Amino acid sequence: MTKYIPYGKQYIDEDDINEVINVLKSDWLTTGPKVNEFENAVASFCDAEYAVAFSSGTAALHAACFAAGISEGDEVIVTPMTFVASVNCVLYNKANPVFVDIDEDSLLINSSLIEEKITHRTKAIIAVDYAGQPCDYESLLYLARKYNLILISDACHSLGSVYKNKKTGTIADMTVFSFHPVKHITTGEGGMVVTNNEEFANKCKVFRNHGITTDFKQRESAGTWYYEMIHLGYNYRITDFQCALGISQLRKLPLWLEKRNKLAQLYNEFFKNNSYITPLKLLPYRTHAYHLYVVKINFEKLKISKNELFKQLRKEGIGVNVHYIPVHLHPFYINNLGTFRGMCPIAEEAYEKILTLPLYPQMTEEEVEYVSMKLIQLVNNN
Ligand SMILES: *Cc1c(COP(=O)(O)O)cnc(C)c1O
Repeated sequence: MTKYIPYGKQYIDEDDINEVINVLKSDWLTTGPKVNEFENAVASFCDAEYAVAFSSGTAALHAACFAAGISEGDEVIVTPMTFVASVNCVLYNKANPVFVDIDEDSLLINSSLIEEKITHRTKAIIAVDYAGQPCDYESLLYLARKYNLILISDACHSLGSVYKNKKTGTIADMTVFSFHPVKHITTGEGGMVVTNNEEFANKCKVFRNHGITTDFKQRESAGTWYYEMIHLGYNYRITDFQCALGISQLRKLPLWLEKRNKLAQLYNEFFKNNSYITPLKLLPYRTHAYHLYVVKINFEKLKISKNELFKQLRKEGIGVNVHYIPVHLHPFYINNLGTFRGMCPIAEEAYEKILTLPLYPQMTEEEVEYVSMKLIQLVNNN
């Protein structure tokens, strides 16, 4: 096998292309009918009331923090095992992230460690459904209600997952999705905040458009030139042709989720009797959206280092990756926030062991077998 197998990959078909072309030939390139249509489609997919589309998942996280009222001096509970954007959004709002360590088997935030970190300044919790598996929302919601905190779910990995019969998008106060090409569905760049709270949704909409209260269309239909800027917002708008792509992609999501689960189960089968390779633990009462397929490798018992294994797999055409370097270990955080090694020991130890294997809907079962056999071979021979 000579074909390079990336860790994740988008899939664009003729339907997607035609939907985008139709918008390019229409009068609206941005902030037209397709934005609303995409928002309604995602809200309806999640069984949620409101959805607000953004130019990226990061912009959506920024807006969710703004809508939650997170501001200077506030503290926000975050997880270290995530992409930097899930924590940077706290800093955009001049608040302080408070890192809570993870559960070593699932790599999700350990909700039993949160309460001791809550102070009178704590304003919100940002939970990340790492790899696509929903967090322990029952305990997160219990803490959020007890201490009057806003629960934001960074569900950039878990679009389409279900927790205790509730779809992701309706569990937390606000849920954030990303439509980057490696995620479940893509708009090139794009993101969304989904919520059942009208006030949060309205704040997100204003924030997306410079903090201005009425958009051009509303002014036009009201026949007036007047508008007001009431918050310091941004231009975080998404275009109509991106949303047309998103609408078309969303139709294929249920099938893609099925395929991701099927391939992940195949990986699990291949690794189940290997004492050096451990897939992440699956927790009860939820479905997994499998944005990532992550294994932990017991390098302590092996002669091969993580670096060497990584290089060998890449040489075999396997696009392994590592998700993630714990956020608190990045130089910016160490230098500006005083974070340090030893702050979240479980996340740091997990980071030494984790490896992301390729997974995307168009991957074949033969490719999963090829990747599994190469990994098993390299591990067993070392
Ligand atoms: C992808 C991702 C983001 C950021 O989304 P963008 O659309 O790339 O801005 C945020 N959080 C997590 C966990 C992600 O995986």
